[in-house]
Amino acid sequence: MNIPSLASLSLAELQNLMQTWGLPAFRAKQLLDWRNKGILDLGAMKNIPNQVKATLEEHIQTQPLKLVSRQKSTDGTRKYLFALQRENQSLKHIESVLIPDENRGTVCISSQAGCVLDCPFCHTGTQKFEGNLTAAEIIAQVLAVKADLLDDPMMDELHNQVSHIVYMGMGEPLANEVEVFKSLDLLMDEAYLNLSRRRITVSTSGLVPQIERLGLDSPVNLAISLHSAINEQRNVLVPINQKHDLTSLRKCLNTYPLAKSRHITLEYVMLKGVNDTEESLQTLIKFVNPERERVNLIRFNTYPGSEFQGSATNVTDEFAKSLISKGIRATVRRSRGDDIMAACGQLKTAKTG
Ligand code: SAH
Ligand code: SF4
Repeated sequence: MNIPSLASLSLAELQNLMQTWGLPAFRAKQLLDWRNKGILDLGAMKNIPNQVKATLEEHIQTQPLKLVSRQKSTDGTRKYLFALQRENQSLKHIESVLIPDENRGTVCISSQAGCVLDCPFCHTGTQKFEGNLTAAEIIAQVLAVKADLLDDPMMDELHNQVSHIVYMGMGEPLANEVEVFKSLDLLMDEAYLNLSRRRITVSTSGLVPQIERLGLDSPVNLAISLHSAINEQRNVLVPINQKHDLTSLRKCLNTYPLAKSRHITLEYVMLKGVNDTEESLQTLIKFVNPERERVNLIRFNTYPGSEFQGSATNVTDEFAKSLISKGIRATVRRSRGDDIMAACGQLKTAKTG
């Protein structure tokens, strides 16, 4: 049986457990007040008596992640390397990234250790797949970033602004459906992180049945790793397209429930001589539904051993202009944290095994 984790317990669940252990129920609320601030370290919980701490240590998992290292980029981006604290298993590592902006702090979280989908331009895809994360491990990334900012007087204002979450770290979130859906509930729980669905984005390479279920269960913002609107090309760039092709993806995008004045984001990494051609552009223009979708052109982030090159800046800008001239919302994503390999698709834990 899995032992319960402090990171994923609701107040009612923890109150019940407290009763089972013969502890007063009001301690549950105290514990969760700490946790909701990002603090999972029992040692730092000043109002919890040692006897309660000892009982908790015995019965629940308090910290699913151990911070191994943290790097800061010159642009303020922070990359965190965590070790999963699992019993009887070889050490697995995951990464998360904090992207601070003027009025918001976005945490980019991992949903799996590695990824099986093998998109050839993605560094994570080249890593050995080591398993799905639990909801507690997913949420603990957000808590750890909050705790880190709390510790840093310079960043205190931002601490209150871990305001946006994107599932764009390591792994394919919708290939870990049960735990990812659970983690979404926890992020949106009013008594926990209380984030609106408009502030959460799930990025997927296009697992159609799971996207449909996401729309029914937790219709957060959706980002699709499109990268090509030509089936044969997408079969190579995003191999899951061989199973769920552009026709079935199109159908499911047409019905995904959107929050008011929100759009589905179609992510498109610009690969020199591959998907930045006139044919690719024209097919993309035909594919996009400008009423419901927008295109985010991503600069390719290179990594050692990669077989691709990014498109030139002027090619990318022209691509964006052409889309805009057809009435399609298009932006070019600024790359953040690439000096510390924290940018999209660069996450691959140096330590594995
Ligand atoms: N598995 C999910 C989410 C993680 S990847 C997905 O594929 O959507 C997050 C985003 O980074 C995706 O759009 C992905 O296609 C993109 N990406 C992957 N490798 C990249 C690279 N080397 N350069 C730029 N973007 C990349
Ligand atoms: Fe997996 Fe996404 Fe990388 Fe593809 S782009 S290999 S789906 S993490």
